[in-house]
Amino acid sequence: MKWSRRSFLASGIAIAAAPAIADHGRIHLPGFPWVVNLPAFTPSVALTFDDGPHPEHTPRLLDILGEQNVRATFYLIGRNVAAWPDVARRIVAEGHDVGNHSWSHPHLATRPFATVLSEIDRTTKVIEDITGRNPTTFRPPYGSFTVTQSRRLFAERGLATVLWSVDPHDWRRPGPEEVTRRILSHTRAGSIILTHDIHWGTVTAMPATIAGLKARGLSPDLLAPLLV
Ligand SMILES: [Zn+2]
Repeated sequence: MKWSRRSFLASGIAIAAAPAIADHGRIHLPGFPWVVNLPAFTPSVALTFDDGPHPEHTPRLLDILGEQNVRATFYLIGRNVAAWPDVARRIVAEGHDVGNHSWSHPHLATRPFATVLSEIDRTTKVIEDITGRNPTTFRPPYGSFTVTQSRRLFAERGLATVLWSVDPHDWRRPGPEEVTRRILSHTRAGSIILTHDIHWGTVTAMPATIAGLKARGLSPDLLAPLLV
């Protein structure tokens, strides 16, 4: 089957090209229309950073990514884009991709679809207005999203739902060394790695994490171009 975001959503078949490691068992079940892995025929992995932009940690992360010559995907919260527009602009200017992570970070699975669209549309607009970039993927806060919501979102807005396959639980702030260890022990070709650029420890973990990925022959790349 050809890998494409359109065909997998049309078929309703979850693409799990590489074994997923995280403790989100539900995302491995067939019939779930969202992405948890990249195709495993490339050595690519996707570093994703959620919940920013943050006025201090995101610029420090951008410095690190620039030094390492690595591109990443940032799942932006709309109200944070409005609060820190210069940081959002810098993310795009330096070659990274931006995805939609809702306006106010609610649990969406139990919300009416009108609320879902309101959260997402407002965020798409602020990202477009400030960065000039039109997000092509959506990551639901907490992964809280239903099959129906995911299918409707793609049908009505063309946004593919992207979850993850590696979750180091960096938001629990286990320390940078542990964040690195967790990521490196679970990541393989095709992994989508969930982290958050609003935490000092996560950003501090990135030089060793990126070096470790590269040492394993893995290439941190943008996510969206591999889905279309
Ligand atoms: Zn989040």
